[in-house]
Amino acid sequence: MTNNITLDSYKEIAPKGVIDLAYKLAEGLKGKSILHVNSTRLGGGVAEMLLRLIPLFDYLGINIRWEVIEGSSLFYKTTKSFHNALQGQRQNITQEMYDEYKRANEENARKISFDSELIILHDPQPAGLILQKSKGTKWLWRCHIDVSHPQRKVWNFLKYYVSQFDGAIFSLPSFAKRLTIPQFLMYPSIDPLSDKNKDLSKEEIDRVLMKYNIPVDRPIVLQVSRFDRFKDPLGVIEAYKLVKKYNDCCLVLAGGGATDDPEGLCFLQEVKEAASCDKDIFVLDLPSDANLEINALQRGATVILQKSTKEGFGLTVAEAMWKGKPVIGGAVGGITVQIVYGQTGYTVNSVEGCAYRIRYLLNNREIIEEMGNKAREYTRRNFLITRHLCDYLAIMTHMLKL
Ligand code: UDP
Repeated sequence: MTNNITLDSYKEIAPKGVIDLAYKLAEGLKGKSILHVNSTRLGGGVAEMLLRLIPLFDYLGINIRWEVIEGSSLFYKTTKSFHNALQGQRQNITQEMYDEYKRANEENARKISFDSELIILHDPQPAGLILQKSKGTKWLWRCHIDVSHPQRKVWNFLKYYVSQFDGAIFSLPSFAKRLTIPQFLMYPSIDPLSDKNKDLSKEEIDRVLMKYNIPVDRPIVLQVSRFDRFKDPLGVIEAYKLVKKYNDCCLVLAGGGATDDPEGLCFLQEVKEAASCDKDIFVLDLPSDANLEINALQRGATVILQKSTKEGFGLTVAEAMWKGKPVIGGAVGGITVQIVYGQTGYTVNSVEGCAYRIRYLLNNREIIEEMGNKAREYTRRNFLITRHLCDYLAIMTHMLKL
């Protein structure tokens, strides 16, 4: 297990009964063989969740394997275009790209052994492997993206594969499609024992704030997210400017992933320019493994934002709430199921609405604590890895008819 973490390590953290439920569900699955397939072992939310979940399945006596497909640069270009097209962006996908998708899936099929009882393929990249389905095995498609408004041609191409699965799992009801196969809902999760979320001492938090010269004598408003236009860091800066007229505070925009993405790099420059007029705005371009630093920033913040205008699930919201912070977030995607309006934070639809809620919280500090506590409890019940594990175990039990 990762750093000797076992299921029992979560006993004091997960809601009462969840660990017992996991053991109980796993009893019937002992020795059953499950295979997960995705397209990367490192980087991105899907790989991170698998990395944390797989050892727990293993610990429960399930014969679990995780395979990663490989492909040419054209394959990755194609699946990136699929990803964008499925999420509604116009993309030009050539016949050569469709052919490469089929070819890469056929080639991977020759390298992977499918002799498991249940096979779970994550996202569109390996979905073509469904053609290897043999009698007696069950196959699930775990879709982590929003395919509710896809570019039709790409969806029709993918649907040919998707309709051959025994079921599909989506992260939100609104992300799903009308399909003839059974559909399941499964929220993603955070791991409270990972570097990103584990408890930190005040010294550890202060050390990170000091490293970036972030003042600790006034409230800190924070947003952690990739430098992507849809995460709306420019809207966050505007909201901060409205707040700053009345409340002294500083703004931290912490993100990363821009350096290997030309579009991201250009946008980061735009964000830096918008921030340049104010020395209390800190734009931090973090490396991809800065988990402890993100954890410390979230713990050091007073109010946390996720002002996205378009979002997948938005796990930064659960991360922030787990640290006892109220979150002000855009009313889009998974943010709407994580923020309970007026209880764990506020969903907003504009820069002005965002500024209003930041000021409301900064002027009512006792509410920050009260909401923060509720946010942590809400996350404990709904968005921890232990709940995610139980969901998987329940779906496996159902699929294998145990
Ligand atoms: N994240 C990170 N470094 C960054 C920005 C984000 O590690 O510079 C993490 C963040 O803490 C969260 C994940 O990346 O765990 C982002 O997930 P989310 O679902 O919020 O958004 P996505 O980036 O997948 O759209």
